[in-house]
Amino acid sequence: TRSIRPLVAGNWKMNGLKADLAIAVEVAKGYDAGLKAAVDLAICPPSTLLYPATAALIGSRIATGGQDCSVQVSGAFTGEVAAAMLADSGAAFAIVGHSERRTLHGESNATVKAKAEAAQKALLVPIVCVGETKDEREAGKALAIVKKQLRGSVPEGSTAATLVVAYEPVWAIGTGLTPTAADVAEMHEAIRAELGRLLGKAAAAGVRLLYGGSVKPSNAAELMNVAHVDGALVGGASLKPDEFLAIARACV
Ligand code: PEP
Repeated sequence: TRSIRPLVAGNWKMNGLKADLAIAVEVAKGYDAGLKAAVDLAICPPSTLLYPATAALIGSRIATGGQDCSVQVSGAFTGEVAAAMLADSGAAFAIVGHSERRTLHGESNATVKAKAEAAQKALLVPIVCVGETKDEREAGKALAIVKKQLRGSVPEGSTAATLVVAYEPVWAIGTGLTPTAADVAEMHEAIRAELGRLLGKAAAAGVRLLYGGSVKPSNAAELMNVAHVDGALVGGASLKPDEFLAIARACV
C-alpha cells in the first residue's frame, strides 16, 4: 500500500497537432473510477496544444502541464513561454530540467532552479528532472551526480504540494533500456534522503518521486512497485492511450 498518491505524467515532447487531441480524449475515456481513486494523471502536450488539451479534459480530472517554462515573467524574450502563460492555458504542472533541455539547450542546474521557482510563483507545480548519463553511471558517479543536481535545481522551501521530482537516467530515455529495480530503489531512496536534507524530512516525505525512462506496460509493474517510486514520467508510451493507461494501472 502506498502512502503517497502516485502521479503518472505524459511528456508528449515535440509531438502533437490538433488531431492528436484525440489521444487525450481516449486517455480520459479510459480513466475509470478505479484509476481515479488511486492515481493522478497529467498530460504535457506541446504548448500550442495546452489550452485545447485542457479544454478537452475538463471534467476528466486529468491535469495538464507544460514541458518547460521561461525563467522570465514577461517581456522581450522572443520565443519563450512564461509560467503564467502555461497556467493561464490551464496547466497545473511544468516539467523543468528535462535532459533534452539540459543537453540540447545547455540548461544548468541554476537555470533549472530558476525555472522551477518561476513555475512555483505562477502556482504551477514543477516536475524537476534529474538523472545521470551512461558515462556517469559506468563511472560509479550516478548517485553523486543526481544529488548535486537536486542541490542545484530544487527551490528552497518546496513542499509535497509544490514540487515533483522525476528521476530520469539519460541513457534510459527513449532507448528501451531501463535500470534494474535495485538501481532505481537505491537512487530513489537517495533522492528522498537528499530532499530531506534540503527541505526538511517532513516536507521531503510527501514529495512525489517519479521514475522516467522507457517506461512501458511490460516493465511498469516492476518499476512502479519499487519503494519511493510514486509514479512515472512517460515519453513515447504517453502518445498511445492504451499504453499510458496500462502504466497508470500498474501504480494501483
Ligand atoms: C521522457 O522524455 O521524459 C521519457 C521518459 O521518455 P521515454 O518514456 O520515451 O523514454
